[in-house]
Amino acid sequence: MTVDTKARLAELRERMSAQGVDLVALAPSPHMDWLVGFHPMLCERPCLLLVGPEHEAFLMPALNAEGARESTAIPFYVWSDDVGPRAAFAEALANVGGTAARHVAFDETMRIDFAMLLLDALPGAKRSFTDDTLGYLRMRKDEREYAALKKNALIADRAMQAGFAAIRPGMTESELAAIISDHFSAEGAPMQFAVVATGPNGAFPHHHTGDRKLAEGDAVVMDIGGRTDGFPSDITRMAVVGRAPEGYGEIHSIVERAVQAALKAARPGVLARDVDAAARKVITDAGYGEYFVHRTGHGMGIGGHEPPYITATSDTELAEGMVFSIEPGIYIPGRFGIRLEDIVILRADGPEILSGLSRDVYGAAIPG
Ligand code: ZN
Ligand code: ZN
Repeated sequence: MTVDTKARLAELRERMSAQGVDLVALAPSPHMDWLVGFHPMLCERPCLLLVGPEHEAFLMPALNAEGARESTAIPFYVWSDDVGPRAAFAEALANVGGTAARHVAFDETMRIDFAMLLLDALPGAKRSFTDDTLGYLRMRKDEREYAALKKNALIADRAMQAGFAAIRPGMTESELAAIISDHFSAEGAPMQFAVVATGPNGAFPHHHTGDRKLAEGDAVVMDIGGRTDGFPSDITRMAVVGRAPEGYGEIHSIVERAVQAALKAARPGVLARDVDAAARKVITDAGYGEYFVHRTGHGMGIGGHEPPYITATSDTELAEGMVFSIEPGIYIPGRFGIRLEDIVILRADGPEILSGLSRDVYGAAIPG
C-alpha cells in the first residue's frame, strides 16, 4: 500500500504538539503501515520507528535494512547481531531530539523488550499509548482507505452469496466455509476468518466452524471476512435451511431493529457508547437483553479490529470518516443465534453502509 508519508508525518506532528507528545515510538505494526506504507518483519530483533518534533528515524536490524530501503527514505540506524542494538538506538534517539523527551507515546502492540530500550533511556518521561496521536488519526479514513474498504466489502458480499447458494442439508460447517474461502481466493482477497455456526452452535458468538452437518430447520450464522489491498472485510448474515426454527422471524426482526437504531444514533459528535445504548435498548425492551452478550461494534481498518470500539463504556466521540461495525446479536442457548453485521463509514449526515447485501434472512424461510 502506498501512503503519503510526508503528509501523514505532518498530520501526526500537529497532533503530537496539540497533545504535548514529543516522541512517538512505533514497532512493526498496523500503525507503522499507516504511517509509512509497510513494516519490516517483526521478530525478536528490535526495530523501531521514532518520530520526534522535527525528525524521524528507523532503528533497523541489519538483515532487514536492504529490503526496507526500497520502501522508505527515512534515515536508518542499522545494527547487526554481533554488536547489538543499543548504540544504534542511542544515536537514533538523539537524532530525532528524543533524548530529552518529556512525553513518549508507545505503539501499544510493541514487544516489551523493544519498549525497555525506551524506558531505560527515558526514565523520567511521561508514558502513554498512541490513541491520542497516531491512533486518533488512524480512526478517520481518507478516500483511498474508503475505496479499499468498499472494494473488500463488495468482495465479501459476493463470497456470502456464494455461501448462500451452496447451502444444502447434510454439508458440514467446514465445507460451507471452504466454499466461501474459495470465492474470496478467486477474487484475490484471501479469507481471514469464517464463523459458520449452525443450529445450536449459533448461540456461541465465536463458534469454531466444525463438522456439524447442516440440517433442515437450522438457522445459520455466517460471519466472514477477507483481505486485499491492505484492508479487511467483515460481514455477518443469516440463512436458514428449509423451514426457520420456531420464533426465528420475531428475533431476526428485533436484531434488525437494533441495527437500525444504531444506524440512526451514529452521527458525528455522538459518543460511541450512545450507539451501543441505542442497539441495546431495542433488544432489552424486547426482553432479550441478557442474550446480547457482546459490544455493538468495533472500528475497522488496516489492523482489522481497531478503535473506535462501540461499547457501553466508550467515551470516544464519533467523527466523520470513522469506520466501524454495527453487529448486535441475540443468542438463545441450545437453539440458535442471530447476528447481523454491517461495516459503516460515518459521513456528515450519518453512516454509509459499505455492503450492498440485504440483511434479510437467506433461504426458503417460512417465518417461525
Ligand atoms: Zn465484526
Ligand atoms: Zn464479523
